Amino acid sequence: MYRFMSEYDYVVVGGGSAGCVLANRLSGEHEVLLLEAGEPDEAREISVPIAWVELLRGEYDWGFRTVPQPELHDRSLHLAQGKAVGGSSSINAQIYERGHPSDFDRWASAGNEGWSYESVREYYERIEGGELPGYGTDGPQRVAEQDGPSPLSEAFVDAAVECGVPRLDRSEVRHAEGAGYTHVTQKNGKRHSAADAFLRPALDRPNLSVETGAEVREVLFDGTRASGVRYVQDGETTRARATGEVILAAGAFNSPKLLMLSGVGPADHLRAHGIEVRADLPGVGRNLQDHLITWVCYESGTGDTYDDADSWPNALRYLLLKRGPFTSNGGEARAYWRSESGLEAPDVQFLFAPAHIERNGLAETSGPAFSVGTSLVRPESRGRVTLQSADYAADPVVDPQYLTRDDDLETLVRGVRKATEIAEADALSPYRGDRIFPSERGEEALVEHVRENAVTYYHPVGTCRMGADEMAVVDDRLRVRDVDGLRVVDASVVPTIPTGNTNAPTLAVAARGAALIAGDD
Ligand SMILES: Cc1cc2nc3c(=O)[nH]c(=O)nc-3n(C[C@H](O)[C@H](O)[C@H](O)COP(=O)(O)OP(=O)(O)OC[C@H]3O[C@@H](n4cnc5c(N)ncnc54)[C@H](O)[C@@H]3O)c2cc1C
Repeated sequence: MYRFMSEYDYVVVGGGSAGCVLANRLSGEHEVLLLEAGEPDEAREISVPIAWVELLRGEYDWGFRTVPQPELHDRSLHLAQGKAVGGSSSINAQIYERGHPSDFDRWASAGNEGWSYESVREYYERIEGGELPGYGTDGPQRVAEQDGPSPLSEAFVDAAVECGVPRLDRSEVRHAEGAGYTHVTQKNGKRHSAADAFLRPALDRPNLSVETGAEVREVLFDGTRASGVRYVQDGETTRARATGEVILAAGAFNSPKLLMLSGVGPADHLRAHGIEVRADLPGVGRNLQDHLITWVCYESGTGDTYDDADSWPNALRYLLLKRGPFTSNGGEARAYWRSESGLEAPDVQFLFAPAHIERNGLAETSGPAFSVGTSLVRPESRGRVTLQSADYAADPVVDPQYLTRDDDLETLVRGVRKATEIAEADALSPYRGDRIFPSERGEEALVEHVRENAVTYYHPVGTCRMGADEMAVVDDRLRVRDVDGLRVVDASVVPTIPTGNTNAPTLAVAARGAALIAGDD
């Protein structure tokens, strides 16, 4: 038995996209403690939309790495994850996409009751706010149009249409279909993170406590019932009791890590690290899915690219008016494409940036250019997260096993070929100079290009999958199997990865998860 310092109805672990939604909804009626390992989201780079790339590898990024990936020439990829109030929603590229309706219908037809698109749509409408037709209008999460996209982004949409992708109306809801501008989580020219949308408005409630710099190291149990957590803050260890439930919202790498450190996971793996087994759940850490993205890039000399976006006039314009290129998230337009006929949903997303992008902007860049990213949005490959040791300080071992299914490589290569077709369509010709890469485009050269350049699109999900089978970690009410008083509510519970960017689906999962916990689903 532990001596607890304080007592709450619910203890939420992680103040990211999902954690902020949970804290907001549950503190309506209950005593809630939200524990976030990162610091407050006060850096200017967090609020200025275009600056998100500068946050990568810094103090607001957990900075995980994959193990070397054999199908990517043994490269080890940097896997950013937000470590701040707002979590990954405080460092992400702000693209708002609901996913494809069939994504959710797949979850439901796998036996997860209440997760069809029809059911989840209501939660989207509850969380969305703003003036864009088709979305919810009264919810806290602002969904906005690009403020002043580059003319190149418009030309990209025209080019995609020229190459057979249906055009989306400028204000159509962003399902994973068609070509159009990206919609973004922004308000008045600034990032509107989950913390801005859900946490800040609840902060003055007396029954919501938020602790930052608070690293949860273990879920505590009385028998099989989760009774609280042990966390370390400023070098001091504290125990907080949850009389209701402990809810893990620590993201796709740290939620399974915390379960395993607490004795919930594959028994043989836990024993190998000397961890006492509380519940043998072989699926913890399995089913890791992520989107890979790889870019084609062309010179562009018209002055409409963002290579000098950080100029003084642009900075001043942003400072005074919150307008101009600083309000751009970089990825201003996108198009979805079915790489084969007969697919129920697109399997490729093209993302357009009026800039020179190599490996998500992290490589050295030079000169005015535009880039088209090709992302594999319905991958078949599945990876895993395991423990390096029983020590909390050790990063989890992340092995996404990218492209281990042949189909994935073939689809990505078909996509890259299509990306060059779009980039070389007439609509982009006024803006297009020489191709920078890939330098060749025979089949072998494109395979090589993918293996050498593909990187993560930062969308890991699935490592505490919901379901009813042996390998499921949570049930369709997001309760961890074989124990009581413990749920996981974040991107880890997603059974199959959404066809588009993962923030909005995670917010919807959390909104429904919160309703299930509060009993008003
Ligand atoms: C660089 C980047 C760009 C992205 N771009 C987009 C985009 O444009 N559009 C989109 O839809 N999606 C994007 N995503 C993905 C999207 O942001 C995530 O899918 C989503 O935020 C996941 O939400 P989550 O709640 O599961 O995890 P997170 O938001 O990552 O939250 C987890 C939180 O738990 C905290 N935590 C972890 N361990 C502990 C612990 N032991 N104790 C206490 N707290 C802990 C973390 O610090 C973090 O705050 C991007 C992600 C990244 C990293």
